[in-house]
Amino acid sequence: MSAEAADFPTPSCLPFDPFAYARRKSTRLEVTGLNGRPVALGGDEAIKVAVTRATFDRLAHKIDRLGDFKPDFVVDDSPLVAVDPREPLPAGLPPDALVTVGDGLDLPVITAFRLLAARLAEAGSSAPLLLKDTLHPAAPDPGGSSPTPFLDTLLSSSTTLGSLICDGLGDAILVQGEEAPGQSLRLAFNILQASGARIFKTDYVACPSCGRTLFNLQETTARIKAATVHLKGVKIAIMGCIVNGPGEMADADFGYVGGAPGKINLYVGKQAVKFNIPEAEAVSRLVDLIKEHGRWVEPDPGTPATPALSD
Ligand code: SF4
Repeated sequence: MSAEAADFPTPSCLPFDPFAYARRKSTRLEVTGLNGRPVALGGDEAIKVAVTRATFDRLAHKIDRLGDFKPDFVVDDSPLVAVDPREPLPAGLPPDALVTVGDGLDLPVITAFRLLAARLAEAGSSAPLLLKDTLHPAAPDPGGSSPTPFLDTLLSSSTTLGSLICDGLGDAILVQGEEAPGQSLRLAFNILQASGARIFKTDYVACPSCGRTLFNLQETTARIKAATVHLKGVKIAIMGCIVNGPGEMADADFGYVGGAPGKINLYVGKQAVKFNIPEAEAVSRLVDLIKEHGRWVEPDPGTPATPALSD
């Protein structure tokens, strides 16, 4: 942090417990969603995805084709209050305000939002928080190409928003470091998915593979994805061996684990339930297992699982 940025009263409390995850308690708030319908955020609601009016206007012509990547609300239509967290909070901050850090401040983003959360805690406010990936929005490039390579934006946005979400902060997020509107939405939803804050598509956990791997991990993962990619909210682990695989499946709902050369064991949670299935039929047996446990839905032929969001 720069000397200038550090020149402000430090808060009297940390806004989160660094040793144990707990989501910040915030007031449930209804904002105007797309098409004027109310959208709830804060409280126990899933973290919502916001866009600016300018971004929405560029997406409006294809909004019906965005599928799972549709934004929840336009931030300009919400009761947003942007503050400088180095300063005392504005007097009379409404309890139903959506609070964020103002753009253009000379503060590291993670620091700025942690400081804002601490200021709110000091003031006894549970106003919902809108997180941003950057305080310096990307400007549309007249040449049509994004001024910053997408990989750079992906890394910085994921680091910033992911860290804050893992702190337990945030009731809505706004990605404004990526100029292309479709890309910014895809990035926002994928950050929520990767941080476990809002699952909107199938989640896969695969081991990195090593000398113990008992099948072609990349090919098998691709086949499993092709069969299950439409199952929203189902988490599938694909592990190369039974030596370490079951212990590394985290909280997956189903597991596909190499049991012996050419043989697969299938898991429900951490429990092995099918053993030594020939590899050639293991993917369809995995699908059967998902069906048996009531987690299967038929794919909708009219809806691509990942709509094109080229800008
Ligand atoms: S799960 Fe097994 S195959 Fe995969 S990386 Fe770990 S030890 Fe290797």
